[in-house]
Amino acid sequence: MEINTEFEVIIIGGSYSGLSAAMALGRSIRKVLVIDSGKPCNIQTPDSHNFLTQDGKRPVEISEIARQQVLAYETVTLRKGRVTNGTKTKQGFEVGTDVGESFKAKKLLFATGVKDVMPKIEGFAECWGISVIHCPYCHGYEVKNEKTGMLANGDLAYDLAKLLTNWTGDLTLFTNGVSSLKPEQKNQLQERSIAIVEKEIKEIAHTDGQLRHVACNDGSIFPLTALYARIPFEQHSNVPQALGVELTELGHLKVDPFQKTNIPGIYACGDSASMMRSVANAVASGNLAGAMVNKELIDEAF
Ligand SMILES: Cc1cc2nc3c(=O)[nH]c(=O)nc-3n(C[C@H](O)[C@H](O)[C@H](O)COP(=O)(O)OP(=O)(O)OC[C@H]3O[C@@H](n4cnc5c(N)ncnc54)[C@H](O)[C@@H]3O)c2cc1C
Repeated sequence: MEINTEFEVIIIGGSYSGLSAAMALGRSIRKVLVIDSGKPCNIQTPDSHNFLTQDGKRPVEISEIARQQVLAYETVTLRKGRVTNGTKTKQGFEVGTDVGESFKAKKLLFATGVKDVMPKIEGFAECWGISVIHCPYCHGYEVKNEKTGMLANGDLAYDLAKLLTNWTGDLTLFTNGVSSLKPEQKNQLQERSIAIVEKEIKEIAHTDGQLRHVACNDGSIFPLTALYARIPFEQHSNVPQALGVELTELGHLKVDPFQKTNIPGIYACGDSASMMRSVANAVASGNLAGAMVNKELIDEAF
């Protein structure tokens, strides 16, 4: 079957933010292509929380409902694949995928998310999103009042510890090496009975991703129910930067309040362009981006 290669908008990334934008654009009768490589950042999490109407659902269930609803709009097409390159053309943009396909559109919208960079600690990656968690708003309620660890250091660790006192009074901070907390921060944590462990972590012992204990290099063991970790991330796709899209200091795609990047015709939404990592925020920013891309197309044609 011959496939269409020319669209008004190409959305790269077909998870929560990309599908939300696709819905706004589909309902605006725009010819939209969504290209998705099927690797959302929450893929390993058994239950997603804090998104109204879908609380406690499996992440994949939420995106499957979204896909069905979006594909009901006849002008929206979804293709599996990874966009590997993009170029500016006279009429807009052309993108190429890892299976050798190429597509053209007037506007591009990046909804490509971010990739978490796992520390090289045995067991960490297996527990990520299950019992090693990134956010108390997403998973804190389920482990409230439980024996909880934090893997972080410096100002980030202090801020995280302060935040987590809302969910549990049983907190241990693992700095995984010498602490870089300021003396006053250390005092404040200790005054609140938050233990600070500066030993290096050897392993996160678990059963099927459920944390049993944190084991340190000196043989000491700390039984825990959950461990929060503040880990670095990188953009899931380097195509925006290759097209000249600027990053913020923190490494997000830089957008204005209407999700527009510095490159005319290129927009971004979801985790790739926001500090607030949640399904609700991804859906909201996709919704806004879709409307703004549509407005730009209207303005150009009117
Ligand atoms: C472990 C974990 C648990 C979480 N739990 C919760 C929770 O309980 N509740 C909550 O509200 N939030 C949760 N979050 C946050 C939430 O998952 C994210 O905010 C949300 O997934 C962001 O949506 P997104 O569409 O921006 O990006 P993602 O969902 O990460 O999707 C990006 C999509 O773009 C695709 N893509 C990337 N590059 C390309 C390319 N070059 N070509 C084609 N496709 C590409 C990817 O394959 C992926 O499908 C969690 C996050 C993590 C990491």
